[in-house]
Amino acid sequence: MELARRVMSIQPSPTLAVDAKAKSLKAAGVDVISFGVGEPDFRTPAHICAAAKEAIDQGFHGYTAADGMPELKKAVAEKFKRDNGLDYSTDQVIINVGGKHSSYLLMQALLNDGDEVIVPAPYWVSYPPMVILAGGVPVIVPTREADDFKLNIADLTKAITKKTKAIFINSPSNPTGSVYSAEELRPLAQLCADNGIIIVSDEMYEPILFGGRKFVSTASLGDKIFQHTCTLNGVSKAYAMTGWRIGYMAGPAPLIKACAKIQSQSTSNPTSISQKAALTALTGPQDEVEKMRVEFEKRLAYILGRLRAMPGVTCSEPGGAFYVFPNLSAYFGKKFGDTVIAGSLELSDYLLEHSHIATVPGVAFGEDSCVRFSFATSMELIAKGMDRLADGLAKLK
Ligand SMILES: *Cc1c(COP(=O)(O)O)cnc(C)c1O
Repeated sequence: MELARRVMSIQPSPTLAVDAKAKSLKAAGVDVISFGVGEPDFRTPAHICAAAKEAIDQGFHGYTAADGMPELKKAVAEKFKRDNGLDYSTDQVIINVGGKHSSYLLMQALLNDGDEVIVPAPYWVSYPPMVILAGGVPVIVPTREADDFKLNIADLTKAITKKTKAIFINSPSNPTGSVYSAEELRPLAQLCADNGIIIVSDEMYEPILFGGRKFVSTASLGDKIFQHTCTLNGVSKAYAMTGWRIGYMAGPAPLIKACAKIQSQSTSNPTSISQKAALTALTGPQDEVEKMRVEFEKRLAYILGRLRAMPGVTCSEPGGAFYVFPNLSAYFGKKFGDTVIAGSLELSDYLLEHSHIATVPGVAFGEDSCVRFSFATSMELIAKGMDRLADGLAKLK
């Protein structure tokens, strides 16, 4: 069978692939510790689950408006006002089938063949394929570990061309955990806005911040920036609701309307029951969110301490999310028996097969020096996993 060229132009999500490999080892009886997963290890808070159960009992199982229930869109607009100081009307809001689908729709709605989208690296694995699937060209702009993997104005300036249509900004970042301050972000966003570039601000990890940091929503940094920003968020990470598949975004009305049109001809509405749950998540008590954040912060302190104590390992300090992204390139070129650890891919494979810890190679995020460890797992398993890592690295000669 001859498949479409667009399918050949992308790879399956590497993070999901690592997860699958780890799961098959586990199924074969191997005690694998997973640092691979990109989802909270907590359960969805009980009051949110109760809202979904109630929705089922009340027979709330028909179609909703294709772009989301009006009630939920209103709750999202209120959330943006309350938490981020952003004034969006409900016709500037759309509810999507997970946060991943928000950026996918945006690319579909924005790009013509050959349009460029700036993707600072390390990047979330799905950004470049989404650009490619929409006929666009991802322009990867590397950042530096010394800058905590944050984009600087000189590199951004060089990357902008007449064809630049959009840029992805993800703070807190998956995979690096880096968080932009208002001072760092404003000049970058202003330059984009002045050049008519749409800023896709992926704010999925908003409440998971460490060290007393305050969250900065890109669109809040100025009027012109607001006009050029799409603000993406969702319930997956904040409320431990990855499987429910609810994301949402707000931005310029014509763009949101275009996304709604595509959604109406592809998925139709996100699951009705999940929308009811998301409504309760956004409007109900928020104390569970803070409890999870506190637990993540404890784990971060521990795992960062362990990593930095290992010979040759450097690791910038994450300001948010639940990942660490240590530089393990000191081990590249070393061997285990006949196996040469050429880069992050070989190192991750070695760690999975010999040390039984699952990680995601940095090359998947556009930074081969590093390996991503998610700390969305218990302290006990993190401790055991770090022992295994230290041992595995020490065996490389
Ligand atoms: C997890 C994640 C999302 C969205 O996740 P969904 O499960 O699709 O809601 C978006 N952006 C980043 C950077 C993420 O890590």
